[in-house]
Amino acid sequence: MDAATRDIVIVGGGISGLTTAHRLKRTGADVCLLEANQTVGGCTRTERRDGFLLEKGPFNIMVRDPDFEALLVDLADEVSVVSASKSARIRFIYQRGALHAVPTNPIALATTKLLSPSARLRLVRGMVVSKRATDAEETIEQVASRRFGVEVTDTMISAVIAGIFSGDISKLSLAACFPPAATIDANYRSLLGFGLRKALGGKKTKRRWRGLVSLDGGLGALTSAMGDRLGDDLLTGHPAVAIRRVDGGFEVDTRNEHGEIDTIQSRRLVLGSPAPQTGELLLPLLPDAADLLNSIDSTSLVVLNLGFRRADVGHSIAGFGFLVPRVEPQFPLMGVLWADSIFPHHAPPDHRLIRVFIGGARDPEAIELSDDDLQTRALGALKGLLGLHGEPILVDVCRYRSAIPQYHCGHREKIERLHATVSGIPGLHLVGNYLEGVSVNDCVRLGTRVAEEIMKENVPALAVPAERRLVTSGVVG
Ligand SMILES: Cc1cc2nc3c(=O)[nH]c(=O)nc-3n(C[C@H](O)[C@H](O)[C@H](O)COP(=O)(O)OP(=O)(O)OC[C@H]3O[C@@H](n4cnc5c(N)ncnc54)[C@H](O)[C@@H]3O)c2cc1C
Repeated sequence: MDAATRDIVIVGGGISGLTTAHRLKRTGADVCLLEANQTVGGCTRTERRDGFLLEKGPFNIMVRDPDFEALLVDLADEVSVVSASKSARIRFIYQRGALHAVPTNPIALATTKLLSPSARLRLVRGMVVSKRATDAEETIEQVASRRFGVEVTDTMISAVIAGIFSGDISKLSLAACFPPAATIDANYRSLLGFGLRKALGGKKTKRRWRGLVSLDGGLGALTSAMGDRLGDDLLTGHPAVAIRRVDGGFEVDTRNEHGEIDTIQSRRLVLGSPAPQTGELLLPLLPDAADLLNSIDSTSLVVLNLGFRRADVGHSIAGFGFLVPRVEPQFPLMGVLWADSIFPHHAPPDHRLIRVFIGGARDPEAIELSDDDLQTRALGALKGLLGLHGEPILVDVCRYRSAIPQYHCGHREKIERLHATVSGIPGLHLVGNYLEGVSVNDCVRLGTRVAEEIMKENVPALAVPAERRLVTSGVVG
């Protein structure tokens, strides 16, 4: 096949599209990946500056999925995995002007000031026995309050969920966001009983890495390595601008570096762009699918990386960092990571790196603030709390208008309808973080599965006239 006719075209070079492309290419498939930006990675953005390693998007990954582990093993010559330090296990929650360690054992729970005595008792009771789940889809707030009471939900659960989905627990669906947790909730009145049964009966899976990991070049090293493996089959700076069906396949229009439109024919098409862009591309082909994709909400988010001289940070900042519960609306940050405490290689010796998250569902307007205002807001909130004496020597501000898709109640049903619509077109596939989980693990798992489905599927050959098996170019009108 020449450059104009490919077996599989993949749109979007974030971790989702890259995974599918990487897996397919390994089997010798004829695959071409189109990425709109000049570099791959999507929301995975890593930069080295002045000895700091700045992660602007995903920062760490919990290795819990065999597909992700297999990807790391496969790329072992190109990337080097770094485990988080032990102190990263200590996590804090901000409350009433102070940071409280999240209790992880009975003694810590008995003495924590994070919860009132009655809330602590309610938490323990919820672990031992709780009311059964109803058949209706419940929000995270509904399940957590039923199990652990309102105070634990407001203080601990709302903070933890902000750290993952930057979302609102009164809208997010437990079953859509955390399917295994919803299954446990539906089947076990006692979480303690479930835990004991699992510890005694469960088979231990052998894992090469445990806990949180990153790479010595940051997570951008992972997506870069995957892009490099694609070689000439990766076209960066090539947004897909239109897709059409042709006999036995697809035509994809992409805008090249000269602003001209190139057309590529393919037998299979994988869309790995975020939900809104995928909706735009599918509109002429599948308007119902486009409507479903456009109805998926997402939060906006700002990530600030602040580098300091060690002497200018009074607090030991030993631990993972802290999250802010929804009952602290006057505190203007969503969460803060102590980057070099988790991964020491993220800051040069004698320096500290603090990552601040602002915005999310609680503060959607924050994305409109200027860089100066965002910096002032972050430093104002952290000055007393972390004992900051001096100005940061490095400031980086990164905005995500559409950061994390929100799996609100009804999301699963929406995705089922989306799949039913898309499956009407043989050879068309979707991957991305709006489908089966937002974490990098989830994206890699889905991207791998879709590649495996493609390898097994039987779609007819592309019936493109010989004279059209060339790239057709024309300046965008
Ligand atoms: C700030 C932040 C922090 C996070 N932290 C973590 C974390 O620590 N751990 C974790 O596991 N997860 C984390 N996540 C979530 C996780 O990183 C994302 O869900 C995941 O990376 C999404 O990957 P994706 O490939 O589905 O989408 P994206 O990364 O959005 O990639 C989509 C790609 O499609 C391209 N594209 C769009 N339209 C077109 C088009 N028309 N033609 C061609 N290309 C197109 C885009 O340019 C982009 O490169 C974080 C997310 C954010 C935003």
